[in-house]
Amino acid sequence: ADGAVLEALQHGDVAALLPVPGAESDKYRRGVVGVAAGSARYPGAAVLAVAGALRGGAGAVRYVGPAGPAVLARFPETLVSDRGPREAGRVQAWVVGPGAGDDAAAVTEVLAADVPVLLDADGLRLADRDAVRARTAPTLMTPHAGEAAALLGVAREEVEAARLAHARELAARYRATVLLKGSTTLVADPDGGPVRVNPTGTPWLATAGSGDVLSGLAGSLLAAGLTARDAGSVAAYLHGLAGRFASDGAPVGAHDVADALPEVWRDVR
Ligand code: AMP
Ligand code: MG
Repeated sequence: ADGAVLEALQHGDVAALLPVPGAESDKYRRGVVGVAAGSARYPGAAVLAVAGALRGGAGAVRYVGPAGPAVLARFPETLVSDRGPREAGRVQAWVVGPGAGDDAAAVTEVLAADVPVLLDADGLRLADRDAVRARTAPTLMTPHAGEAAALLGVAREEVEAARLAHARELAARYRATVLLKGSTTLVADPDGGPVRVNPTGTPWLATAGSGDVLSGLAGSLLAAGLTARDAGSVAAYLHGLAGRFASDGAPVGAHDVADALPEVWRDVR
């Protein structure tokens, strides 16, 4: 409605936005998503981001970073590169940051690419704000409240107390779409307009690695051609349902959430 501050996607909206391959489709047309994530310390973040990306609708996942063996052991279909993002080969969207440690060069290279980029976790911390603002392709940032607070130079409690205002402020400052994670996930565009509130989700998603799955999933939807706003809000919707499906009232790990995504797709379609 005119002047609405908030809006929520419904099941049918999400169904209409899912990237479904046509009869003439091939893996390249479906999109290749690049994942620059993981480190010697956190190889699992790379595995979980790839797990989300493989269930997001792109035709292939290309991985760059030091966790290639761990990724391949779990997902042999991953295209693992031993080069940096700039030389890894063509991708339609990049995910950079989950568990990435201090690899600032990977973040810089990804931000220079003329394709959509999702920044999460360490990628948020390492990204140069002017480099993000200078981008012409879409940027999707996926902070939790603590990461948003660090970027804005305020206390985490301040963000929690006014999540909508801070999501918008971050989007304006970085000229990027911001998906602010938490008990209520919000998606705000840089040029204003209604903020999307995610209606799915469960506190069982508050578990290590859960955000890494979300970043891969959203990156895959970007590679498949969704806008940053749609990719972020569709990913949050599917991820929230996957948490509910996987958990059904019991504690689960992030890999269980990723494993529930195909069932969520069948339910939504
Ligand atoms: P991260 O903090 O990066 O691991 O991401 C955590 C994920 O779990 C995000 O998708 C959050 O939106 C979700 N999450 C965390 N806490 C809650 C909660 N209390 N209720 C619903 N979802 C949550
Ligand atoms: Mg995280």
